[in-house]
Amino acid sequence: MFWTGELIARTAPVRGRAVPPPPWLSPLFGKASAAYLGLAIGDALGATVEFLTPNEIRHQHGVHRDITGGGWLRLKAGQVTDDTTMSLALGDAILARGCVEALAAAKAFDAWMRARPVDIGNTVRRNLITFRGSGNPEAPPSEHDAGNGAAMRVLPVALACYGQAEDKTIAASRAQAHVTHHNPHSDAACETLILMVQDFLAGRDAREVKEQRAEALVRQHPVFAFDKKRRDHPSGYVVETMQAVLQALFETNSFEECLIDVVNRGGDADTTGAIAGMLAGARYGLDAIPKRWLKSIDQGIHQACTRQAADLIALTRVNKP
Ligand code: MN
Ligand code: MN
Repeated sequence: MFWTGELIARTAPVRGRAVPPPPWLSPLFGKASAAYLGLAIGDALGATVEFLTPNEIRHQHGVHRDITGGGWLRLKAGQVTDDTTMSLALGDAILARGCVEALAAAKAFDAWMRARPVDIGNTVRRNLITFRGSGNPEAPPSEHDAGNGAAMRVLPVALACYGQAEDKTIAASRAQAHVTHHNPHSDAACETLILMVQDFLAGRDAREVKEQRAEALVRQHPVFAFDKKRRDHPSGYVVETMQAVLQALFETNSFEECLIDVVNRGGDADTTGAIAGMLAGARYGLDAIPKRWLKSIDQGIHQACTRQAADLIALTRVNKP
C-alpha cells in the first residue's frame, strides 16, 4: 500500500478540520479504475467479433452487446486478450521501478510473451525476439511498424504520469512504445490517447478534448482525419484503429453506446473495444459502466485492473512536486 501512512494521518480525527475522503473514494480513482475496467471490458466484448465484417456480425449476432466469449480465439466469457494483459504487464513494471523505464518494460513484455499469451501481434513478437538477442529495449525505427500494438497498452503510462509535465509524459510514452513500435504514427496515437485519458480524468469536457487533442492530431498528421467516411472493419493499422475509436467516442453519449458502436464495426474489434473502453471509462466514470459487463469480466483481471489503477494513481502523488 502506497498510502497507508497518509491514510492513517487523514482518517485520524482532527478537531475542527474536514477530513478528505480516502483515495479510493475520490472521483479521480473512480475514473482511473473505470478506464482500466473499460479497457478490459472492451477487449473481452470485442474479441468475440474480432476480424468479422459488420455484415457478418449482423448475421451471427444481430447487434453484439454482451460478453459471451468465443470468437476466433475461442475465449471463455469474460476472458481478455493481449490488449489487457500487456497493459497489466507494463503497469507492474512501472510500479516495480516507480517510473516508466524502457528496459523494465521490455523485460516485462518478454516475460509476458514467454507465458504464452492467447494472442500476440506480429510486430510485438518480432521486436521482442530481437530484444532477446540484443538487450536493447528500443526497436529500430520502421515505417512499417504502424500497428496499434503500442497504442493498446498506454493506459498505465497515462495513470503513472497524471499531473506531470507534458514533455515528461511524452518521453515516458515513447519509452514504452518503442520497445515494439518505433514509428511516428504509432507515437502520435499513443501520445494523443494518453493526453485524452488524462484530460478526462481531470474532468475536462468532451468537446474540448476533441478540439484540443483529437483534432490537433489530425492537424499534425492529416492521415488520421476521422470526420470523412465512417470507418468500418478497421484493420490493425493504428490510423484506422484511431478513426474507428474517435468516431465511436465522439458520436455517442454513454459508455455502453460507445462500446457497442465500436465493436460492431468488427475488424480489430478487441483492440478498438479496449481503447474506446479506456477513453469512455475515463470520460463517464464507474457508475456509467453496465453492471452486466462489470460482472462478466474475469475476477482476477477485474481485481488486477482496480488495484493497478489505485497504485498507479498513488504513484503520481509520490512523484508530484
Ligand atoms: Mn487482443
Ligand atoms: Mn486485436
